[in-house]
Amino acid sequence: MPEWEDLCNRCGLCCFEKWLDHNGRVHATPIPCRYLDIVDRTCKVYHKRFTVGEGCVKLTPEVVRSVNWLPEECAYVIHMRKTNPE
Ligand code: SF4
Repeated sequence: MPEWEDLCNRCGLCCFEKWLDHNGRVHATPIPCRYLDIVDRTCKVYHKRFTVGEGCVKLTPEVVRSVNWLPEECAYVIHMRKTNPE
């Protein structure tokens, strides 16, 4: 079984600003986090992202299960759907 962090395919989709509509639905925007390299889709401050990135969240299995703002295409979301079907 691959290590948890190896599941990430580095698509960078989680690193774009989102907004909540009045129904509580999450919508992605085309605005990237200021630290996302939009060419290679990597974080420019990866090793210190939790201290410099406002709102940057460590994606643990518990977090992936409980948040609604990760894209459906996220490799973690797909993995959790396969391994923990509801
Ligand atoms: S959306 Fe998921 S797979 Fe893509 S970079 Fe973010 S954590 Fe990794």
